[in-house]
Amino acid sequence: MSEFSLNLTEDQEQIRKWVHDFADDVIRPAAHEWDEREETPWPIIKQAAEIGLYSLDFFGAAFLDPTGLTLPVALEELFWGDAGIGLSLTGTTLAVAGIFANGTDAQTAEWLPRCFGTPDDPKLAAFCVSEPDAGSDVSALRTRAVYDEAKDEWVLNGTKTWITNGGIADVHVVVASVDPTLGSRGQASFIIPSEVSGLSQGQKFKKHGIRASHTAEVGLDDCRVPGSFLLGGKDKLDERMSRAREGKKSGGQAAMRTFEASRPAVAAQAVGIARAAYEFSLEYAKERRQFGRAIIENQSIAFKLADMATRIDAARLLTWRAAWMSAQGMPFTAGEGSMSKLFAGETCVWVTEQAIQILGGYGYVREYPVERWHRDSKIYTIFEGTSEIQRLIISRAISGVHVN
Ligand SMILES: Cc1cc2nc3c(=O)[nH]c(=O)nc-3n(C[C@H](O)[C@H](O)[C@H](O)COP(=O)(O)OP(=O)(O)OC[C@H]3O[C@@H](n4cnc5c(N)ncnc54)[C@H](O)[C@@H]3O)c2cc1C
Repeated sequence: MSEFSLNLTEDQEQIRKWVHDFADDVIRPAAHEWDEREETPWPIIKQAAEIGLYSLDFFGAAFLDPTGLTLPVALEELFWGDAGIGLSLTGTTLAVAGIFANGTDAQTAEWLPRCFGTPDDPKLAAFCVSEPDAGSDVSALRTRAVYDEAKDEWVLNGTKTWITNGGIADVHVVVASVDPTLGSRGQASFIIPSEVSGLSQGQKFKKHGIRASHTAEVGLDDCRVPGSFLLGGKDKLDERMSRAREGKKSGGQAAMRTFEASRPAVAAQAVGIARAAYEFSLEYAKERRQFGRAIIENQSIAFKLADMATRIDAARLLTWRAAWMSAQGMPFTAGEGSMSKLFAGETCVWVTEQAIQILGGYGYVREYPVERWHRDSKIYTIFEGTSEIQRLIISRAISGVHVN
């Protein structure tokens, strides 16, 4: 077990600086352009792959760091650079976490490298849970996976929506229902590589923020995959479902396990956006003069900045605690993962709005990055569990009551 410490190791400091430099030199200068283009920034993904930042080696090592802090530290810097581009560089990791959490060693070894591709030919991966009628209520998934015993194949049918990298990914990890009568306990995760026939991209969404990140519907029309593409294998699934039928407890459900582990990472992204907006507005407030003095000399502005700094630090502390607990294998008995995601998500929305106020009209126009940070921030109270769902998880965890 690693002690919780706020002091980063030398390695972590180096990684922080390395990612920060890439964010500062490459991502920030490109952020406005890709936000306007609303396209996946392939040239930047390639550049990140070439230096080893967009790679299984980097994310794998960060994920396995015993202190748990390397990943949130790196993500904060990346998203400080830009959230849309940041998500294009990290959307893959959600699928990777899904494979890692549910797959066998052989499946992990086979599929994780393919999620990233190579530096010359980088690839993306997508984690497909949400559906038009199943967002927060993951137990209501309609996508069906039916086993064809004669051929030892799974056949998947359904529609996924809001999928980051959906349709442009080389590997789609799809959560589908095998036995709908069991709700979420009858679900399993499947690998659907891009060459499988019947896999298609539906509409690509035009979004409020994180516009460089591709979000689309994914169609599954009689997609056939070998039996070995069921993550964890059929024996384990059969055993889990028969326990569920007997009313016994299980270790939880595939999609939720992935989200639990990824919450502090998502929180760290939100901290990065908030910090970007805070730093920018602090500098601006010192320079902008009205009524013969810098606007920061007014308490109404200075106190806003004090509150912004305080909330950002609090969000980071919750994030690091949850990331550290997760790395120690400690269960989130009080919903600590959700606390980090809830607080960091709401903090980045609040902080970016204050930043607009501090810049006045300049905060509201696209020549300045602040309005983009505000647009980008809002997704953090929605995806990977809305703020309301995080509050449900926390309130249930602290009370033992099945709060609705
Ligand atoms: C840009 C973007 C990227 C995304 N990427 C992915 C991805 O890669 N993979 C993926 O699977 N999904 C992805 N999602 C989907 C995302 O996780 C869902 O949008 C989210 O879970 C909410 O589901 P919903 O949109 O259907 O809203 P709903 O579940 O319909 O919720 C609507 C409102 O009702 C509230 N609500 C619902 N149930 C309750 C309740 N029991 N108690 C209190 N309030 C409740 C919600 O909090 C929310 O305010 C993405 C979404 C977006 C917008």
